[in-house]
Amino acid sequence: MQKLYYFILFTIAFGCHTHAQIQSKPKLVVGVVIDQMRFDQLYKYQNRYGENGFKRLLREGFNFKNANVNYIPSETAPGHSSIYTGTTPAYHGIIGNSWYDRELNDFIGNVADSDEKIVGSLNENPYGASPKNLSATTISDELRLGNNFRSKVISVSIKDRGAILPGGNSPNAAYWHDWESSPGYFVSSSYYMKKLPKWVSKFNALEKSDAYLNESWNTLYPIETYTASTADDNDFEYSLGGKPSPTFPYDFQNMREKYRPSGTEYRLLWVSPAGNTLLTEFAISAIENEELGTDEFPDLLNISYSIPDVIGHTFGPQSVEMEDLYLRLDKNLGDLFTALDTKVGKDSYTLFLTSDHAASPAVSYLKENKQNTGIARIEAYTEKLNAFLDGKYGAGAWISNFNGNNVYLNKNNINEKKLLLPVIEQEVADFLMTLPEVYLALTAHDLQTQIYENGLRKTIQNGYYPERSGDVLVTYKSGVVIQPDSGAAVENVKGAVHGSGYSYDTHVPLVWMGLGIPHGESVRAVNPIDIAPSLAMLLNLQLPSAVLGKPLEEFFNEN
Ligand SMILES: [Zn+2]
Repeated sequence: MQKLYYFILFTIAFGCHTHAQIQSKPKLVVGVVIDQMRFDQLYKYQNRYGENGFKRLLREGFNFKNANVNYIPSETAPGHSSIYTGTTPAYHGIIGNSWYDRELNDFIGNVADSDEKIVGSLNENPYGASPKNLSATTISDELRLGNNFRSKVISVSIKDRGAILPGGNSPNAAYWHDWESSPGYFVSSSYYMKKLPKWVSKFNALEKSDAYLNESWNTLYPIETYTASTADDNDFEYSLGGKPSPTFPYDFQNMREKYRPSGTEYRLLWVSPAGNTLLTEFAISAIENEELGTDEFPDLLNISYSIPDVIGHTFGPQSVEMEDLYLRLDKNLGDLFTALDTKVGKDSYTLFLTSDHAASPAVSYLKENKQNTGIARIEAYTEKLNAFLDGKYGAGAWISNFNGNNVYLNKNNINEKKLLLPVIEQEVADFLMTLPEVYLALTAHDLQTQIYENGLRKTIQNGYYPERSGDVLVTYKSGVVIQPDSGAAVENVKGAVHGSGYSYDTHVPLVWMGLGIPHGESVRAVNPIDIAPSLAMLLNLQLPSAVLGKPLEEFFNEN
């Protein structure tokens, strides 16, 4: 109230300054990432969304309708990193959920760190996790660095990467759901702490994962009313837990018995809408117990809802399961917003909601509906490529790895044969472009020496990080999906996929609400990398170190 009074006084005394120059800062910023949310899911189910969730965002907030991920691959780890660093994998270095490492001759997970231990797990986890692979600062870091670490940053998610990457290098904590830990606790890493704080241990002691897995998932409304989706029983979805068909209801209590011997019982919560409810409860508990948004130093709470991604991969965006999941997530968001209103104050926080990537329905569904589609069969491509190079330059082990988007050439072989790398790169790129599914192959040499201004060439370059990327970067025609092995028939590729530079994978929601955010909408082309620099402007912080995004000017217009 006092701040509002000064605001009015100041405005009267000094005339027409913009509101942005003198407005008060939010006490809490909340970043909500809905993993795999498509832009159209803001609208598709709207007739049954309530007033307090997605519709409140649109009613009160500012909606950027034309927001697109601007790099390849459109995956979870690059997505979360890009949102919070305000830059693309070309600078922050998280070029995929995993990437091939030439020295190790193996894949590295985006947040894997064998020097760290998982904190709070009941089981001995064989791996650790940290943000050490992230090569640029996040807005989370800038907030902490900006006032000698008096602002608090807490990141929570179901997936480890959904919590760790948004938090950057120096958050107070990142927590995620550990399905390997019976009974499904929230855990952290020794990177952040030696042991879990009391409130997290207390939350775990409620054993909510266990309780939620004893509930069945049935539709909220009579199933015949789910007209935004295909019929429940169809050929485009994977079945769960040995069920003969991909249909409601999902009896998790029964399924968990089958999964228990393999230690994957709590993974089932990742395909249940209750996983979203669990995360919402955990996030609200973090607001209360960490006293977020209660002092003059703005805090940041990063929340990443992972379940929509897992449900998407299993059933696809056209499924009844997805529709019901979103109707329930809408209620979770309503609960979160209401908790923020009461605990932080309706005019004291600023929130954004976006996604790390969208997704396409499965090729089986697309084919059935006469859409262009195809499969890039990487094993077969690798064989063809080897045979081509053998024929031209003599037999050799040419390819160290081909993951679909990156070809890593065996540089020892090229050196031994006294060939030049850029020449072989170009041979490989030219050969790959003769394959019917391939749209474009660019060499590392080209990516290091050319500047691409727009289109798919630019999105490829935005995803190219010299130390970690391949020697040839490949992208496919619209509708084509990457399959590692050569066997799968189109009909057997179900659920949903993402990763391409096409709009079905890149067009995501971007909606803001709260202090400093005018009401409105825009069709201007923007990117999720514009979020972090916008926050830097709203909070008067230094920009994240490698920022490429631009502040969303709609918030800072003089009028
Ligand atoms: Zn994702």
